[in-house]
Amino acid sequence: MRIVVTRPVGALTALAVIGATALAGVATQTAAQAEPAHYTTKTPTSVGFGGAVTSVDPEASKIGVDVLKQGGNAVDAAVATAAALGVTEPYSSGLGGGGYFVFRDGRTGQVHTIDGRETAPAAMPKDAFIDPKTGKPYNFTPELVTSGVSVGVPGTPATWDSALRQWGTYPLRRALAPAADLAQRGFVVDQTFHQQTSENQKRFEAYTTTPKLFLPDGQAPAVGSVFRNPDLARTYRQIGARGTRWFYDGPIAHQIASLTRTPPKSPDTDLPVPAGFMEPSDLAGYRAIDRAPTHVGYRGYDVYGMPPSSSGGTTVGEALNILEPYDLQSMDTGAVLHHYLESSALAFADRGRYVGDPAYVDVPQDDLLSDTFAKERGCAIDETKAFDQPAPAGDVTDDDGQCASASQSAAQRRPDTENVETTNLTATDRWGNVVEYTLTIEQTGGSGMLVPQRGFLLNNELTDFSTVFDPADPNRIQPGKRPRSSMSPTIILKDGKPFVALGSPGGSTIIPTVLQMIVDRIDRGLTIEQAIADPRGSDRNTGSTSAVDAPVTAEQSFIDRYGAQLTPYGYTLTPAGQPGTSAAEIGAATAIEFGPGGLLTAVSEPTRRGGGSALVVSPNAG
Ligand code: GLU
Repeated sequence: MRIVVTRPVGALTALAVIGATALAGVATQTAAQAEPAHYTTKTPTSVGFGGAVTSVDPEASKIGVDVLKQGGNAVDAAVATAAALGVTEPYSSGLGGGGYFVFRDGRTGQVHTIDGRETAPAAMPKDAFIDPKTGKPYNFTPELVTSGVSVGVPGTPATWDSALRQWGTYPLRRALAPAADLAQRGFVVDQTFHQQTSENQKRFEAYTTTPKLFLPDGQAPAVGSVFRNPDLARTYRQIGARGTRWFYDGPIAHQIASLTRTPPKSPDTDLPVPAGFMEPSDLAGYRAIDRAPTHVGYRGYDVYGMPPSSSGGTTVGEALNILEPYDLQSMDTGAVLHHYLESSALAFADRGRYVGDPAYVDVPQDDLLSDTFAKERGCAIDETKAFDQPAPAGDVTDDDGQCASASQSAAQRRPDTENVETTNLTATDRWGNVVEYTLTIEQTGGSGMLVPQRGFLLNNELTDFSTVFDPADPNRIQPGKRPRSSMSPTIILKDGKPFVALGSPGGSTIIPTVLQMIVDRIDRGLTIEQAIADPRGSDRNTGSTSAVDAPVTAEQSFIDRYGAQLTPYGYTLTPAGQPGTSAAEIGAATAIEFGPGGLLTAVSEPTRRGGGSALVVSPNAG
């Protein structure tokens, strides 16, 4: 191990553990003498034994793997890692957001999930996203997303509490302690954090509160500086000491409700910052929900995912069912990708028509995941060309297994307004427990609204509801409802044993990203590292030609690598975003693959979002 004095950062000197050999003349301390103050090493892949944690952030993964080394299990490590991501990835996750936690119990072999999705306030009207001044919907970004009306009741504290109580060994206080310490001592600002802050400057400046933390001296913190968040450190410690009911029933609940109803709008902003409808009683009534996972069989594997309120499990599962009859292994890459894109578009058509919060919508989950339905849907795939979009939804009441006639249901184009950031982690331990956890505050930077003195941002998750009310839309705004998500944390078993756990950020592109990685790994025979790194193309049946939700939005690298092979099918591939911006990337995923003899391959993103960090407990067996 080599210890290198990297650069002076504020009053501290940052030490980074970055390699295997001593750097002559620089190192003045040894690892035994001093723990590094900041872990900045990005390790995209680690191979080893005894447990692993992977996330997009080196500090967070280090905290997680240290929990495992100290005897904690995968659930303890996942909560500790998630809390650390709330420090270092505050624009993608944190106490003010929600997420979905999928857990494979090493003792019983069962897979469980927790739905920690945000909820709409009880008083939210169906026209909440219509500007009363114009009678038209607010522009989505930056207007609607920068608001109190888009803030849902946070689900993340309840998720952590529920996971630890059911399957963890740590009390909440212990699981949050390393993240509290991290918030106190700070982390080294990297290019991604700097860029995300800069891209949010206007939105943060819409409030009187947020710039004080995230725009010190009026601008984004410099790359290489240390960013500290003592308010968040205190909040974590208080929640650890007093429990999450203190968050949901106490002063923080009152503060959140009041902020959403009366946002601390800056007098200088030209953004409207629409107010919301949340009351303390909405927070007091919040519960994370245990749900049975979705399950499909795919080529001898058992694929478990997140059921509604996320559309992840049903949509990934339906697409896999559509693909299963095809012998993808015998096809060339262009044909495989053609089938992948079409299966995704078809499953998205059904997602749009049938999937919403199951407390409000009778989601035909069994039908959506049936092989009969998949057979009916797969008929739409033409082996030689892409079908016109938007494709119509299938009819779940028709169980004859025959191809549906084209006119059986009208195609509906619903704009896809989900945005492209969140964060994801994977953890496992020596007892065979596995956690796949995707968590978010929706937009990068969420609503942009900081909870003062508490150190975390509030989500804008309610913008995942459809903007315009349509009584036939399962994702229409309803009081107390959870907006439909695309988050798709997925655990795949083979003969009852873990094979791969994976997940991704990316709004509605999460679903195709997870699907593409599964096809890459199982059908194309790519390694899990290659599957994580593979350029991404994403077909969400939007039927639009705009850059943000074109039928196939793709990373430029996907267009460069696969475009020529897809052109004969008639695809138009649209770059996902302006080069150099966060939006140009699709899905900084994480995964762990389980090999023979307890061998673990932990993988994080090699380049997207600046690269992540995958760590194992030990490089050696035993
Ligand atoms: N709001 C998104 C969803 O639930 C996740 C956030 C994102 O990745 O943009 O699907």
